[in-house]
Amino acid sequence: MIGEVTGISVIRMLYLQLLYRCNMDCLHCFHGERLKHADAFSPEEAINLLTLMRDQYDTEGVTLLGGEPFVYKDLTQVVRYAKQELGLQVEICTNGYRIERRLTEIAPYLDVLRISLEGIGATNDRIRKFGSYQGALSALDLARELGIRTGATMTVTSQNIEEVLPLARTLQEYGAAQLKLHHLRPVGNASSHPELLVTDRALYARLRQQIHGATDLTIQVVLDEDLSLDGAPEIGPPINGLREIPRIEADPRGALTMSCNAVGKDSHAFWYDKAADRIVHRPSAIDEITLSVPAVVYERV
Ligand code: SF4
Repeated sequence: MIGEVTGISVIRMLYLQLLYRCNMDCLHCFHGERLKHADAFSPEEAINLLTLMRDQYDTEGVTLLGGEPFVYKDLTQVVRYAKQELGLQVEICTNGYRIERRLTEIAPYLDVLRISLEGIGATNDRIRKFGSYQGALSALDLARELGIRTGATMTVTSQNIEEVLPLARTLQEYGAAQLKLHHLRPVGNASSHPELLVTDRALYARLRQQIHGATDLTIQVVLDEDLSLDGAPEIGPPINGLREIPRIEADPRGALTMSCNAVGKDSHAFWYDKAADRIVHRPSAIDEITLSVPAVVYERV
């Protein structure tokens, strides 16, 4: 259905939010109230969507996320199927809190473990949860022992912008290959915490200079285009006419979003109908195609 409406025939990566439930309630979480919602993919529905994406859109990889994917009791079943039966590249994005037992279980089927961190020590724990920093480092340690490649993500806020480089250096010591930096979008919990927003864009320009000047960094740092003096454009080129896009994200209800800029805003043009096992088009005046919401562009440093 996406192809019929837009002409897109290849979608490289599926970001699959298995459930909303999480063992944290982070100050910046874009899910907000939805963290309390019970919506989730059953393992069969998750496997059906993965199969559909691979067969119809040549999807090569899946990133499993939530909520917290390690809270999802059928995680092993989904990860194993994605790797063994579908041959997908499998990545999990997690808060890394008390995941050791299940990480060991899924290790043979997992390509990349990506852990979200919001700074060093107490800075991270104030935004996420007490003990979560140490939990994340333990998970990185175990992943290294198990031979799983690792990376991290960080949402840049007023509270942690000074800790980007120290965190990158720590992650480097723990063997992480990449740190991806996101811009904070004021949706979900973040809308109740305006103090987290970086209001002086010059700080982003300084951050970029610091990263470019940090010659000791071997970890790859990837930056959201919005983390810059000028920011990203508010309107992107029309999606119609593209043959290929890098990603699509399914939320636990089945709503599909192509741009990270539209995630958390309920501007979906397409849905995965779980019962019918097909993608349906539900256009609206605020959907991401009508509004030409631009894709987020990332720069690798
Ligand atoms: S940001 Fe991630 S870890 Fe934090 S509450 Fe949201 S889903 Fe959970």
